[in-house]
Amino acid sequence: MTNTAFEDGHSSFTIDHSPGLYLHIPFCKKACTYCDFHFSTSLKAKDRVLDAMRRELEERAMELPTEALGSIYFGGGTPSLIGPERIAAFLEQARRLFAIAPDAEITLEANPDDINTEYLEAWRACGITRLSLGTQSFREDRLRSMGRAHTAEEARRSIDRIAGAGFTSWTIDLIYGLPGMDRDEWDEQLRIALDLGMPHLSAYCLTVEPRTALAHQVRRGEVVPSDDEAQAAQFDLLMERMARAGLVHYEISNFGRAGHFSRHNISYWTGAPYLGIGPSAHSFDGRQRRWNVAHNLRYARGIEAGTPVFESETLTPAQRTNEILLTGLRTMWGVDLDTLPVPIGGTQWGTIERHRSRDELKVEGARLVLTGTGRHFADRIAAELFVDT
Ligand code: SF4
Repeated sequence: MTNTAFEDGHSSFTIDHSPGLYLHIPFCKKACTYCDFHFSTSLKAKDRVLDAMRRELEERAMELPTEALGSIYFGGGTPSLIGPERIAAFLEQARRLFAIAPDAEITLEANPDDINTEYLEAWRACGITRLSLGTQSFREDRLRSMGRAHTAEEARRSIDRIAGAGFTSWTIDLIYGLPGMDRDEWDEQLRIALDLGMPHLSAYCLTVEPRTALAHQVRRGEVVPSDDEAQAAQFDLLMERMARAGLVHYEISNFGRAGHFSRHNISYWTGAPYLGIGPSAHSFDGRQRRWNVAHNLRYARGIEAGTPVFESETLTPAQRTNEILLTGLRTMWGVDLDTLPVPIGGTQWGTIERHRSRDELKVEGARLVLTGTGRHFADRIAAELFVDT
């Protein structure tokens, strides 16, 4: 697939469609109360699972097109928990199995309590180009109530260390919409992050996912979730502060300076093929989605025995269209209506007109792009435009 150049009148950006590799490291020190990703806090099966991942990578490498990889992403879980030698070994294996673009983005998710000089040097030496730091908050009370394994001091110190370690790019995660959070608290979090010089921010609104500790706390009345109005005001503040600081709002939850947008995530949102390795990891080849079992031992046993550990689904043109609408509208590039597998029809044009008249949606040539107001309702507007499946 070729790359797509995008011009918005002020800047230009090339969307990279080269294939990507994702490795899911399913271990964490502690369970955060809000988290519904797949991970285990028991490290007993760590070596067995990581060995199985190496085998899966070896056996599935040919599923990706032969083009050079544009990105490799270690996500989780907590990849920084497994030590740099294991990360280096995965990268060595990837270099043997794939061509990797000379400017490939190679990201590692890390938690602040794992950041030390030795690890930073080892990650750089083995080829990590970008660190994604799970900061979440700079407040001690918030970190404690979320069940995070790090302190506020570690959050700040780790950013200083990363910034001083010579990484070409790094990003932090922050959470807003926390119970009882007000504008001043959120403003302070953003100010601290900006003062620390972050080139990229992923800011997520807290959602209460079923089967999490947070959901139990809410059910028992121990935690009262933040209301929609407070969350919307915090999202507005976020957009305003980032625009003022010169970070581009290129996806609903993501802001970056030029040259720091996440190549890996953009390739997900724009339908590039990727191979996902490890328990719960998803893969996409342009037509078929495939996802591994979200259970460490079942995964390892299956890989060792050569039995399938995945389920898959081949997307119909209508399903693919709806995915493009859902992910594309969340980005600043919007959706190119000329490239939808199922063209939108009269009913959807009525919906577009309605949102245009409310200043929630713009039509720029063949592209549908959300306005700042529309970004509050991105998923709902996309769903209203869905074609019948
Ligand atoms: S460290 Fe990340 S993956 Fe692990 S429990 Fe916390 S939020 Fe979830």
